[in-house]
Amino acid sequence: MALSFPRSAKPSWPDGKQCAVALAFDLDGPTGDAMLDASLSRNLRYFTEGAYGPWRALPRLLDLLNAHALKATFFVPSWVVLHWPGRCERILKEGHELAYHGHRHEVFKDCSLEEQREIMGRSRDIFAARLGVKPLGFRTPSGDWSDETADMLTEFGVIYSSSMRGDDRPYFHVRADGARGLVEIPARWDIDDYTALAYFEDPDFPTGLDRISDYRLVEQNWRQEFLGYHRDGLCWTTIFHPKIVAKPGRLQILEGLFREINERPDVWVAHGAEIARWWIAQSEEVS
Ligand SMILES: [Zn+2]
Repeated sequence: MALSFPRSAKPSWPDGKQCAVALAFDLDGPTGDAMLDASLSRNLRYFTEGAYGPWRALPRLLDLLNAHALKATFFVPSWVVLHWPGRCERILKEGHELAYHGHRHEVFKDCSLEEQREIMGRSRDIFAARLGVKPLGFRTPSGDWSDETADMLTEFGVIYSSSMRGDDRPYFHVRADGARGLVEIPARWDIDDYTALAYFEDPDFPTGLDRISDYRLVEQNWRQEFLGYHRDGLCWTTIFHPKIVAKPGRLQILEGLFREINERPDVWVAHGAEIARWWIAQSEEVS
């Protein structure tokens, strides 16, 4: 069934492209609560699962992206940069974008503003010293933040965030003084690969085999979502994790999705930073 859509609600994209896609992967590694609350040392399985991402899954994923000539954005805790600098260099060398994702995957809403500044400062220094880059993007590790976070990020040269959920097009945050703030490129939890391929109800832990969805249905769901965004001219961004989705048997899910994207020459596949810059330039043209 063809759905009608008001043209005025469709953003315009470069070269008359129909929609935008920012493929995004969170390379968390063994960071997160299990490390921060010290339970990591008592749970070797978590460490193994997390380290699998940068160590084993990432090279496989990069090979797949290369094979399909697709560029992606990787949100990486700076602790992971410290421990796998060679892997992160390969991400850059192959034309992908690196962006901020905390130092050890902290819960930003539980951090004071000064603690958030300290995390960002440390991350900035590690990215600069180890990789010679100054990221422009940020994804909050915990899916939330405090009122001051968006304004604070601009102090570190960040121009966009991909942390919130409120739209399927980019939009601007509003600064405390009412001025235009960061570009937000919103993503969705319901198509986060954890929801289909990792979660565990009892115990509530992202490892093991409970509640894993049928791979064919996951591929179908993600392709269907992409097609909806394409039809309506929106901006699709993913929250995928190499350690979850880039396992040997799951690669075919991504392959199906990548083929669906590449069959359409009117899709703008871009880094988060390219989409943010486009959004800023468009708004400046209009105003
Ligand atoms: Zn993460």
